[in-house]
Amino acid sequence: MRLKRLELQGFKSFLDRTVLTFQNGITGVVGPNGCGKSNIVDAIQWVMGEQSAKHLRGESMTDVIFNGSDTKAASSMAEVSLVMDRSGVALPPQFAAFEKAEEISITRRVYRDGNSEYLINKTACRLRDIHELFMDTGVGRRAYSIIEQGQIDRMISVKPDERRGLFEE
Ligand code: ATP
Ligand code: MG
Repeated sequence: MRLKRLELQGFKSFLDRTVLTFQNGITGVVGPNGCGKSNIVDAIQWVMGEQSAKHLRGESMTDVIFNGSDTKAASSMAEVSLVMDRSGVALPPQFAAFEKAEEISITRRVYRDGNSEYLINKTACRLRDIHELFMDTGVGRRAYSIIEQGQIDRMISVKPDERRGLFEE
């Protein structure tokens, strides 16, 4: 499965619906400090089911909702969808309905009152279904290596045995 598109709305700094298309050959997202690059990484982890607010650089899960700016009111909901190319990957039996689909999208929503929803191809599902969908595909919230800001610096400057520890992790 290959990441094709990421759609954000009301997530962190992305109040308006924003669509990022990852065509072949895209290897990076660049932009000035504070423009939202790390928020994109947070969105990918979040939609794949991340449950730790700390991992998403917040205190509570509702911190991912756009919390207003000088000119815009806070949003009542955050929504992220991740769209993948199926590339012929077989799906678990409960997803038989999507057997013919070329794209698989997963969506996560959270409301200010803390209620949340998960969807697969716009059909409501459980977090467990999302985990099962990715099982054995090599995709998952912990399957990709996300190297935090500042860690490269650490890798370069630490002693060899400590560096080895970082690589093993
Ligand atoms: P740097 O290059 O410094 O790492 P970055 O591009 O990674 O920057 P991010 O950390 O993704 O930037 O974005 C930071 C911005 O997102 C800040 O301006 C912060 O106020 C904003 N932000 C984070 N959470 C929210 C939220 N819930 N609502 C509104 N804005 C938010
Ligand atoms: Mg950053």
